[in-house]
Amino acid sequence: MSTVQTDLSGQPGQPAPSAPGVWADVVGQDAAVAQFRRAASPGGSLAQAWLITGPPGSGRSTAARAFAAMLQCDHGTGCGQCRACRTSLAGTHPDVTVVATDKLSIAKEEVRSLVMTAQRAPATGRHRVLVVEDADRMSAGTFNVLLKSIEEPPPATVWMLCAPSAEDLAPTIRSRCRLVTLSVPGSDVVAELLRRRDGVEEDLALRSARAAQGHIGLALRYATQEGALAARVESARTLLGLRGAGEAVLAAQALVERATAEAKEHADQVALEEKARFLRSAGIDDGKVPPSLRSQVRQLEEDAKRRQTRLVRDVLDRYLLDAHSVLRDVLSRQLGTGAELVNVDVTGEIEQAAAQGTGRITLSLLEAVQEARERIAGNVPPLLAVEALLTRIAVSQR
Ligand SMILES: [Zn+2]
Repeated sequence: MSTVQTDLSGQPGQPAPSAPGVWADVVGQDAAVAQFRRAASPGGSLAQAWLITGPPGSGRSTAARAFAAMLQCDHGTGCGQCRACRTSLAGTHPDVTVVATDKLSIAKEEVRSLVMTAQRAPATGRHRVLVVEDADRMSAGTFNVLLKSIEEPPPATVWMLCAPSAEDLAPTIRSRCRLVTLSVPGSDVVAELLRRRDGVEEDLALRSARAAQGHIGLALRYATQEGALAARVESARTLLGLRGAGEAVLAAQALVERATAEAKEHADQVALEEKARFLRSAGIDDGKVPPSLRSQVRQLEEDAKRRQTRLVRDVLDRYLLDAHSVLRDVLSRQLGTGAELVNVDVTGEIEQAAAQGTGRITLSLLEAVQEARERIAGNVPPLLAVEALLTRIAVSQR
């Protein structure tokens, strides 16, 4: 049995030095980086199964890739410069396999093939690393396929499972992993990343990072996608301006339509890419699908539709989190906490709402937002849940 154990402490011995090399893009995670560094250092105990948890957008898979690069680094330091570091980070290292999914669940077949890969000795590197980005999207049966390999991996194999929280994995799996917990990165470090890595101009980087509340991917979207930040500001304004049930019903409809359009756009794009990749791998370059492959292509298209249903809920959930942040800003003004507003672009409207309402009402609205999120996650028709929420907000603001 290998040196797998659960390390719940997550405590660094000392604050990590500023994270250079492969850790450059892992921002706001000093404790986690220190834990990885210690494990990879000579004399450190390198667990063969890791569970990297953290809220969405905190950089779980970025951290996993960086750790993989550090393990493969030609100099053993995670220099970020050598070929092993660069290919590991780019996802092209032959001994680093990354499984990512946009789908509702990771197929058992996919995990089976991963387990077979895990059995092989590394080709060029010092380790064979397997990263599963959405390990929480495995069924109980799929966990069982994985379990054996995690229990007794070949000596050079290292598993890195990523999930929002440890509870998302079967207890049999998580008890065999060493746990690393990422925190929500602060707006300042996210803004700095956008400036350095993506060349975003300073003010926009900070506004985007603040609006995204520690979600790195979302911050990048706000900073680079035309109109994304403006749409968010507009939604905040609409929310605070709701005055009656009629307006609320219309706003709910618009919100759900916008979420559907956004989800469809994303799902369509992914479906197109998948189809193109599939046809290429079948040696077809004129885009014409021969009859023998039609059922497989149809399957791909059906998968994309299923994905879209989940995506609508994901996008709506993000909108509701936005609404939550607006109401929290209102509450923070009502309580006079002096905290910096998340939605600085609607400061005037927030102050007005704070003056007109009471902290007690705002608190009940915050609960209503959470309730709406839970209802949507629990398969209540989204329009129904959003309508009920916005009506409640509108009536309280009248
Ligand atoms: Zn290196």
